[in-house]
Amino acid sequence: MLIPGRLLGLENVKKLWLNATKNGFSSTAGSSAKKRICVVGAGPAGFYAAQYILKHLSGSAVDIIEKLPVPFGLVRYGVAPDHPEVKNVINTFTKTAEHKNFNFYGNVALGKDVSLHDLRERYHAVLLTYGADQDRQLNIPNENKPNVLSARKFVAWYNGLPGAHNLNPDLSGETVAILGQGNVAVDVARMLLSPMDTLRKTDTTEHALEALSRSRVKQVYLVGRRGPLQAAFTIKELREMLKLPNVQTLWKPDDFTDVPAELPNLQRPRKRLTELMLKSLSEQPAISSSKKFFLPIFLRAPRAIGENEIELTVTQLQNNVAVLTDKIERLPADLLLRSIGYKSTCVDGGICFDERKGCVYNENGRVLKDAVSKTVDKGLYVAGWLGTGPSGVILTTMNGAFAVAKAICDDILSSELSIAEAKPGLDFNKFQRVVTWSHWQRIDQAETQAGQVMGKPREKFVDVEEMLKVAGL
Ligand code: FAD
Repeated sequence: MLIPGRLLGLENVKKLWLNATKNGFSSTAGSSAKKRICVVGAGPAGFYAAQYILKHLSGSAVDIIEKLPVPFGLVRYGVAPDHPEVKNVINTFTKTAEHKNFNFYGNVALGKDVSLHDLRERYHAVLLTYGADQDRQLNIPNENKPNVLSARKFVAWYNGLPGAHNLNPDLSGETVAILGQGNVAVDVARMLLSPMDTLRKTDTTEHALEALSRSRVKQVYLVGRRGPLQAAFTIKELREMLKLPNVQTLWKPDDFTDVPAELPNLQRPRKRLTELMLKSLSEQPAISSSKKFFLPIFLRAPRAIGENEIELTVTQLQNNVAVLTDKIERLPADLLLRSIGYKSTCVDGGICFDERKGCVYNENGRVLKDAVSKTVDKGLYVAGWLGTGPSGVILTTMNGAFAVAKAICDDILSSELSIAEAKPGLDFNKFQRVVTWSHWQRIDQAETQAGQVMGKPREKFVDVEEMLKVAGL
C-alpha cells in the first residue's frame, strides 16, 4: 500500500498510516514492484545514501526510520549554531525527502520499536546509518565528578537535543579546561568565549543562551596529548578563534621549540595550519586583563581529576606517539569538558559490532556476519560514523555514503539480493505517533516562526512530547 504523504492532508495521512501499518510496515513494504530499501537514521549518511539510490536505481523506494521525531542528526544537534552555512545541506536533504518514492518515519527507533530482523524481512536491503551518540571515556580517577562533563553532552545542551536541556553546566567559575583538541573541542571553546550578541543571532537554544549570558568563564584551556604538529583542529576553526572579539589566544612558546624546523617537510594543509599557529605565537601581545583567553596546551595527558584542578602528565613525542614522562603538572579548572570523541553502540543483537572500535564490522559498507570468517551478511549495509568510526566532516560522510549506496545498487542489479515478497502484518499499534515528513514540516515551521520573533533562525523544541503535539500527534 502506498501512502502519498505529501499529497494528503495531515489527518488523512495519519489514518492511512494506521491502516497501512495493519498490512505491513511502510508505504513501500507492500509493493513488490519496487526495490525497497530501509535506511536507519536520518543524518547525513542516511540522506545522502537515499539520494544516491533514488537517483541511480530505477524503481527503488527508500524509507528512512529515525529515532527522534526530527531529521538531520548531527547537522541539527552537533554542528555549531554559529556555523549556519554548514547546515545548508538540509536543503539538499529536503529535496530528497520530496521524492515521491521516499518516506520519513520519525519517532521509530531500531532496537526499541522495531528489530533488525523485522526490517530485513520486509526490505530488500537495510542500510544502518544510526551514527555515534555516546562518548569515549578518559578512564582516569574522578572522571565522574559533577564538574566533569562530556563535550558531547554540552554540545547537545546548547543545540537542544531532547533529554539534554537539564544538563545545567556550572559556568560560575572562571576557568574551563577542555580535554581534547579536535574541532568539537574548538566549537565548545568558541561557544564559551563568543560574545552574547553573536550567539543570540544563532539557533542556540534559549536555555543555553540564558545560562551563557550569566557565565563567568574567562579562560578556556584546550589540552592535547601530542604537539602542535599533530593538532586535530583545522585551520578554519583556528582562524575563527583568532578572530573572536575580546578574546586573546595565548600559546606556550615551549610547545613550539622544534616546530619551525619541521615546516618544510609538512603537507600543505598541515603546513598552513602550523604557519598560522606560529604567526599567532609571534604576534602574541602582552596579556590584557580585560580580555577572555583561549589557551591551547600541547604535550600534556590527563592523569587524574582533583578539586577544581586536573593533574596532567607531561608527554614526549616518539614517532608521533605521546609517551608519558614522570613530570606532573596541575592545571586549575572549575569545569572540565572531555572531548575525546564520539562512540557508536550496538542497538540490536543482529548486528555484528566491533566493541573495541565502536563501529559495525563491515567491508566497504557491506556488513559482515562475523569478524572471523569475514562473510558478508547479504542485504545489510552500514554507512556514516557507524561504519567508519566518528571522524570526518559531512563531505567525508557524503562520499562514504555514496560509495555504500552504489554497492547496494550494484548488488540489487546483479541479483545478489533477491527481490523478496513483503511479509504482511507487524503489529504497529505502538507506532501510532510516527512522524511523517509532513509532520516534520509542521514542527519546522513552528520552530522557524518562534525563532523569528526572537531574531534568530529558529527556536528548537527540546521536548519530544512538545514536538509531537505541534506535529498534531
Ligand atoms: P548522525 O549525523 O549522527 O546521524 C545519525 C542519525 O541516526 C541521527 O539522526 C540519530 O538520531 C539516528 N539514530 C540513532 N539511533 C537510532 C536508532 N536506534 N534508530 C533509528 N535512528 C537512530 N561536519 C562538518 O562538515 N562541519 C561541521 O561544522 C561539523 N561540526 C560538527 C560538530 C560536532 C559537535 C560533531 C559531533 C560533528 C560535526 N561534524 C561537522 C561532522 C558531521 O556532523 C558528521 O560527519 C555527520 O553528522 C555524520 O553523519 P551520520 O549520518 O553518520 O551520523
